[in-house]
Amino acid sequence: MELRALAGVKRNRLGTVSSRGVMNPGSPSTPVRLFGTNGIREVVGEKLTAEFVTSVTGAIAQTVPIGPPIAVGWDGRTSSTAFARTVSSTLALGGHGVIELGILPTPAIQFNVPALKAQFGVIVTASHNPPEYNGIKLIAADGLEIPRRVEEAIELLVESHAAQRMPFDRIGEVRLDGGGASRYVERILQLVDQAAIQRRRFTIVLDCGNGTSVYTSPTLLRLLGCRVITLNAQVDGTFPGHLSEPTEANVADLRHTVPAVGADLGVVHDGDADRAVFVDSRGRYVPGEKTLTLLAREIVEAHHGGVVVTPVSASQSVEDAIRPLGGEVVYTKVGSPVVTREMQSRRAVFGGEENGGLIFPQFQLARDGAMTLASVLEVLARNERTLEDLLKDLPDYVLVKEKIACPIEAREKVLAFLVEEQRTKGGRFLTLDGLKIFEDAGWILLRPSGTESLMRVFAEAKTVDDAQQLARTGIARVKAALQILGVATN
Ligand code: MG
Repeated sequence: MELRALAGVKRNRLGTVSSRGVMNPGSPSTPVRLFGTNGIREVVGEKLTAEFVTSVTGAIAQTVPIGPPIAVGWDGRTSSTAFARTVSSTLALGGHGVIELGILPTPAIQFNVPALKAQFGVIVTASHNPPEYNGIKLIAADGLEIPRRVEEAIELLVESHAAQRMPFDRIGEVRLDGGGASRYVERILQLVDQAAIQRRRFTIVLDCGNGTSVYTSPTLLRLLGCRVITLNAQVDGTFPGHLSEPTEANVADLRHTVPAVGADLGVVHDGDADRAVFVDSRGRYVPGEKTLTLLAREIVEAHHGGVVVTPVSASQSVEDAIRPLGGEVVYTKVGSPVVTREMQSRRAVFGGEENGGLIFPQFQLARDGAMTLASVLEVLARNERTLEDLLKDLPDYVLVKEKIACPIEAREKVLAFLVEEQRTKGGRFLTLDGLKIFEDAGWILLRPSGTESLMRVFAEAKTVDDAQQLARTGIARVKAALQILGVATN
């Protein structure tokens, strides 16, 4: 796709685009950063208003050349349909044909962008955020989340308030497409061993969390021959069942229901269903890194090797599980757009995040909750084992998360000091996103928060004692750096 605005960026009076996209509201040379690691996320009625959405969509309408249509889909939040219609109208008035896909999971919308030969996709969603949030996620013609440089071009146009006005005979057509969910489910069914899964006749408790998976996962499970018991299976943007983030605390009903009805397992999706998190038959929560490790091992084994891409925050268990099988882990910065782009360039066999957002390149380069669900069932069916049984074989690690106050303006300086110190010390370390230090007992990650006055300290080891010891080491190093650099933290 040729993006017209990219060529214009160089001539823009605002100057060159910052390659790091650092937020710098006071400077005339750098636009305000609107897109975070997963698109735009804001509070409805505060920053996220009709005017704001019109302004961002107007910039998209100018960035994407007039040609094939743009697909628009959205989640079930109270404001999503209204904002999505604002997006459709603005794109059409800017001369673009629009295909409205309606309320669907994010991965189903991503799948439908190339399937419908759309040249771009706009998703109105705030994923797992609390109900007062909404946001915008942008998708390229190949279904991948757009790279940062396209976001920068859009940010520059938003800043310059340049509107595109079309005469009556160049307004785009808006058409509705109701087939997005079935196209997506049918494709997943083609990619897994349906017969093996159907033979197991799984009983599954599915918690849709009042999100978009209501339109896809119940159908998928029934077509896979499962007996399905649903929880929170009506779309409701106030999230009356539980908050949309699939944490252990938020899915207490699911944990109780699975053993109560004698189900094989439970599964919960976040609001836009790009994640799937599991509960075993005894109602025990399975952390996302366990599913990531389990599927990485199965897929690398089936491929006799291959690259698995995951952010620096991922568990050591992924490396431990795939190395003996000839697999290689490639680390990236935190954020799924970076992971998917790296998977594409490395021709990775699998990838994903420790939060349950897993990516199956044989289907599409997108985090995908329904594909994760179907893949876990396939692994259970093929191995003829239970989920808890398969998880028992995986390396066990303990992750400790700490934080230390550090002023936002000092974060980069502190990090640079810590990196320099590590260079002098030597050993294995990564500087992709913060500083990740590999030690004999495990690893330490020192990473500035993206939004708060904090340095995050993560430490992982095989025992609680070792993990806590590594975290203490990390904290001591950050504190020493703050002291040496004379940074006040209160
Ligand atoms: Mg999500």
